[in-house]
Amino acid sequence: MNDSSPPPTDSQTGAYQVLARKYRPGHFRDLIGQEAMVQTLTNAFAHDRIAHAFILTGVRGVGKTTTARIIAKGLNCIRGDGPTIDPCGECEACTSIADGRNVDVLEMDAASNTGVGDVREIIDSVRYRASAARYKVYIIDEVHMLSTSAFNALLKTLEEPPEHVKFIFATTEIRKVPVTVLSRCQRFDLRRIEPEAMLAHLRGVAEKEGAKIADEALALITRAAEGSVRDALSLLDQAIAHGRGGEDETSAAEVRAMLGLADRGRVIDLFEAIMKGDAAGALQELEAQYADGADPAVVLRDLAELTHWISVLKISAEAAEDPTVSAAERARGSDLAGRLSMRVLTRAWQMLLKAIEEVPIAPSAMMAAEMAVIRLTHVADLPPPEDLVRRLTEGSAGTPSGGRPGPGNGGGGPAAQLTALAGGVVSAPGLAPKAEAETALAAYTRFEDVTALLRAERDIKLLDEAETHIRLVRFRPGVIEFNPAPGAPANLAGRLSQRLRDLTGARWQVAVVAEEGRPSIAERVLAEKDAAKARAAEHPLVLAALESFPGAEIRAVRPIGGDGAPEEYLAPAPERTFVEVEGDLVDDDDYGDDPFEEDN
Ligand SMILES: [Zn+2]
Repeated sequence: MNDSSPPPTDSQTGAYQVLARKYRPGHFRDLIGQEAMVQTLTNAFAHDRIAHAFILTGVRGVGKTTTARIIAKGLNCIRGDGPTIDPCGECEACTSIADGRNVDVLEMDAASNTGVGDVREIIDSVRYRASAARYKVYIIDEVHMLSTSAFNALLKTLEEPPEHVKFIFATTEIRKVPVTVLSRCQRFDLRRIEPEAMLAHLRGVAEKEGAKIADEALALITRAAEGSVRDALSLLDQAIAHGRGGEDETSAAEVRAMLGLADRGRVIDLFEAIMKGDAAGALQELEAQYADGADPAVVLRDLAELTHWISVLKISAEAAEDPTVSAAERARGSDLAGRLSMRVLTRAWQMLLKAIEEVPIAPSAMMAAEMAVIRLTHVADLPPPEDLVRRLTEGSAGTPSGGRPGPGNGGGGPAAQLTALAGGVVSAPGLAPKAEAETALAAYTRFEDVTALLRAERDIKLLDEAETHIRLVRFRPGVIEFNPAPGAPANLAGRLSQRLRDLTGARWQVAVVAEEGRPSIAERVLAEKDAAKARAAEHPLVLAALESFPGAEIRAVRPIGGDGAPEEYLAPAPERTFVEVEGDLVDDDDYGDDPFEEDN
């Protein structure tokens, strides 16, 4: 605590009172950031059109319960001769409501009282008039937690509430509240507090507390609180305590350490190293932040947040006006936004989300973060496809002759990654170096080269899926864009990309696109078969056979090699066309039919 200022104390007990409580607004005018709601309520009170039931929704800590209590005070304040939008805050009704001890204002937390019995108690008491106050007010917090039967019981009362009863519901999850209940309530959506308003509020509170705290530190708290005043004030409480008093102000570094945050500037350093493709540098920076106390999971979130911010900056320069961002950070953000493509940014975003998801299942958060950094460095430094094709055509001299380039190629295989991680000495983590990756890809000039690889590796499941479900839109070495055929597994692109990367040691960008693609290999094979049948049907011998056996039909065109056969897909065969004809005379062949199926 700052020695120069007395600790905030409860006026009655003299005990320390947390800031969130001490500065809990007692009047609508003290409520920050909720002007629209206050205006609507003011009008309602002024015209004596106060709803029977309110529902307040918004993220935690924006002031739902506080608002509920102010409304209750406004309804019951005895200073005036009726409900008022501006309760005095001093009369017996106001003070008892503020302290939560007013017998006519009942607060219930649905999170702990979800059953129909709890609601029945309320409903039973609804019939009795308020003992002292003007209105009986029921405040039900987290109302979405009520059970269905509890909601149903409540509904009857909501449909015909007695004159002297008001309900105020609060919820963080409005979508879980039944429409039947919602439709009987006046709804207010409490907004997240805007950073400007929050900063000003925190600054004001710190001043009143006589606490010295750096503006940058307040900005960090504002950002961490994500629009929740309660969270922000709790953090401010801690930050002031961390400050250790004296004449020194609480610094941004102290607050950063308290929040487990990496320095935003250092997050940008890390991001820049990643985007340069400097895996070693990025891992070192990550390691250093970890050593300084940054939580790896938070670093990943910071990177995601930064990626989002830079993406938005690309679209709208106004996003740089965020008051929680320093001028230096703003300049660096704008610079990165100018240099990075949206393709790289969106890819990085997806990979970071995936990495954040993986943190709980990874052996350690740090490993998850390191793997994410390694993967990310390879998104970033991959040249755009056009560039890749150009480089391939210019510098294909080094293509190794014979043999499929495999994961053992070069020093970048999974083994090398593990060594790098375990040993801490990072020489060449990640995939094969760029040049090798390009040569590795040179062997795959057609999609069929890819399926041939899968066939050679006996990955039959993936091969089957690739042949059946991939309607190719675009193919370049390292890039497969396709439109999935019906029934395609949702994760096909991801699995194929991963498998090809493992097999070739190069990065494969496999993506589902909306454009219509060419028929899949399976579809083409099927079409070829149909065409073969059609051709066979025109063969003089077949014509003669069909004529001789009325009702017969061509079932399949087997071993090929003769006229117009689709050699590309089928094995070489004797030089004659063999036609299976289904009809009375050939129905005893063993072409997969049930041999016991005699009559039909
Ligand atoms: Zn009052």
